[in-house]
Amino acid sequence: MKTVQEKDQKHCWHPFTQHLNEADPIIIASAKESCFYDDSGKKYLDLISSWWTCLHGHAHPALIQALHEQASEMAHVMFAGFTHRPAAELSSSLADLLPGGLNRVFFSDNGSTAIEVAMKLAFQYWQNTTNTRRSKFLCFEGGYHGDTLGAMSVGRGNGFFKLYEDMMCETILLPFPDSWEGDEDIVKKEERVLTQLKKILEQQASEITALLIEPLMQGAGGMRFCRPEFLQQLVLCVQNAGILVIFDEVATGFGRTGKMFALEYIDQVPDLVCLSKGITGGYMPLSVTVAQDYIFDAFLGDTFSSALPHGHSYTANPLGCAIANRSLKLFSEEGTLQKIENITRRHREFMLVLKDNPMIEKIRLLGTVLAFDLKGSGSYKSKDSLWIRDWFLEKGLNIRPLGNVIYLFPPYCITDGELDEGYRNIVLGLEALSHKRSAEVVLSSRP
Ligand SMILES: *Cc1c(COP(=O)(O)O)cnc(C)c1O
Repeated sequence: MKTVQEKDQKHCWHPFTQHLNEADPIIIASAKESCFYDDSGKKYLDLISSWWTCLHGHAHPALIQALHEQASEMAHVMFAGFTHRPAAELSSSLADLLPGGLNRVFFSDNGSTAIEVAMKLAFQYWQNTTNTRRSKFLCFEGGYHGDTLGAMSVGRGNGFFKLYEDMMCETILLPFPDSWEGDEDIVKKEERVLTQLKKILEQQASEITALLIEPLMQGAGGMRFCRPEFLQQLVLCVQNAGILVIFDEVATGFGRTGKMFALEYIDQVPDLVCLSKGITGGYMPLSVTVAQDYIFDAFLGDTFSSALPHGHSYTANPLGCAIANRSLKLFSEEGTLQKIENITRRHREFMLVLKDNPMIEKIRLLGTVLAFDLKGSGSYKSKDSLWIRDWFLEKGLNIRPLGNVIYLFPPYCITDGELDEGYRNIVLGLEALSHKRSAEVVLSSRP
């Protein structure tokens, strides 16, 4: 019999992985609350919530029960011509949670497709309402919206996808005015972006389909935060120019930034919102694209030609919807937003410890996300970045730096003790990295 490792090595193709030289993946056998365990029983504290999906912790009894009950009743049914209680309930709850006319929910199964749907909706909206073809999207340097073709196009500013340029649709990139503790230039940076934006709008507003932005927090681009004041002015400008606004809340949704959705930090309401990752608490793949009523109305007509020709086999999968419904109820049952506040408070205290650490810069905090840059380190999967990732794994912590950015993105069930363990090891990890660098300097200075 072949082992899991042998079968994996021979047949699995892992995401974002150079198979020739990266270490073998760790075989994970089980998970509970803030931790998962490998096949030898070693514990890993999941400080990045398994790629930002896990909200209430692993193996939550209420979520398991919801999955079990729904699976016993009906695991799946096609969503064209049919509907079911879990989907109807979820769309109605999301419409209640979201502001303004954000009342129409289109289902798919991951963040990237939620973005594809939003882009197609926006494009067809102009076709349906004004019979014009607008095909340029406004988006940000450092933005990330997923790995499918449309999502890569609007995420071309993050540098992961240079190879695919020839396959992409047209975009206009704006600089992202990211900010951190003690950043003194932020107002000037924001003004420069808004000035640039106004010029673009004067010249080509009528060719632009929509603005796409990760509100307040660029995730994969390196946990870069902008201020609500900027977001507010940006959206105001773009909507005043008659252009649609799409918020990609795939990473920021469901409490991550301290409020249920990042859009709650501003008065303007986007035209479309994409949600995924935390929507099922990390238990099932599911995503939604939520549209304002007037967008939906623009697709009504006597013939099919104005309808949206889009749908996935697992659209509105009942298992995913049932868990999402249960996850939303947990927010009030378990006082999740208070837990989030506690994490923010603990992070803020830890920032004082980090403040004078000579290894790092640009310390920043938003809700439950604490991030900083390693000084003098390179790009995605640079040597230092891989080295410290492995150091953390060795110590039993799942912390996966994005290039020179180290960040915490914990599940909301994390205890004070577990947070302390994370904090302590970050300080130790930075120290170890500093020693490693000094040793390398000594080595390379030998004749
Ligand atoms: C992860 C992510 C996506 C893509 O979601 P997938 O489920 O990985 O396809 C899109 N937008 C943002 C902001 C994300 O963080």
